[in-house]
Amino acid sequence: MSFLMPRLSGLSPYVPGTHTEEEGALRLNSNESPYPPSPGVSEAVAAGAGDLNLYNDPDCMLLRGAIAERLGVKPQNVMAANGSDQVLLLAMTAFADAGYPIALPDLTYSYYDDFAAVLGIPLLRKPLREDFTLDAEDYKQPGVMALFPNPNAPTGLAVSPGDIRAIAKADEGRVCLVDEAYVDFGCASALPLIAECPNLLITRTFSKSGSLAGARLGYALGAEGIIEELSRVRSATDLYGVSRMAQAAGIAAMREWPYYEANCRRIEETRGRTTEHLRALGFEVLPSLGNFVFAKPPMDAALLQRRLAAESIYVRRLSAPRALGRLRITIGTDADMDRLLRAITRILEEER
Ligand code: PMP
Repeated sequence: MSFLMPRLSGLSPYVPGTHTEEEGALRLNSNESPYPPSPGVSEAVAAGAGDLNLYNDPDCMLLRGAIAERLGVKPQNVMAANGSDQVLLLAMTAFADAGYPIALPDLTYSYYDDFAAVLGIPLLRKPLREDFTLDAEDYKQPGVMALFPNPNAPTGLAVSPGDIRAIAKADEGRVCLVDEAYVDFGCASALPLIAECPNLLITRTFSKSGSLAGARLGYALGAEGIIEELSRVRSATDLYGVSRMAQAAGIAAMREWPYYEANCRRIEETRGRTTEHLRALGFEVLPSLGNFVFAKPPMDAALLQRRLAAESIYVRRLSAPRALGRLRITIGTDADMDRLLRAITRILEEER
């Protein structure tokens, strides 16, 4: 017997992820940062704990001010929420519905599908080209929301600001939603376009470059009008929004941003080395701009994933048909990647 409403019958059964708290495990499957938050974050969270009897600021004024200051926009261009997943869900709730479909790549962040299933929004899947690049023409259809991460996940490939501008301009009456979860690892942001594209909405997260995945903190960027509309939907569904602790953590992280900036550059360097090393081992690796690489091993990908898991090294294999023969591997520290590459080298020799 099912109690689910018929509109939710398309929801796929919940599959537990490979989240592990195992001692010594190498978690290269969730695109987390290998670097801890900066010292000011722990201090701010500890200092804020004494005020937990009081409600938090639902409008996140200090946090939005800190984000706006770093990015050179106004607080009215920023809305904060519990992870960019919540921002994405709110944006899809606000700007699409059963009669207002969403165009998205056939290979992309799979959680969009769950949001669309919950909200009853039809999805128009646009196949990426053979080389996994995105064709901007597919997203210019009037009356259809455009949605894609930039850089895309799991491919790590980027869409140019010129293409994003053209997509947004193709129909200014509908929203162009660009998920910049991984933008800080070397990709050009669409942020300068919000001044000329009132329908452009960007989502960002503190979970990757900001080393705060466990705090659940994300934000939207856009023109004042679209942010105000999105904020109305947020406060109607989640009155207080971002917790006091997460706001404190985010404000401190913004103040200490040079630390995170330096970590991003280290991750880019490690990504370069890892890409070269994997290629030398016979992998096909896309040139990623994220904190992960999407790589096709010279052996069965599922077997390699299992063999690595047996050594407590966790990498991700996605279920989309075009992703089955590949692994998405998060970039950790240099030492993390050395451990991975040593294990892969040995497994490839044993499986030869
Ligand atoms: N967008 C993309 C493309 C992602 O990979 C992720 C992380 N899984 C998110 C958004 C959501 O991140 P968070 O909710 O932690 O901000």
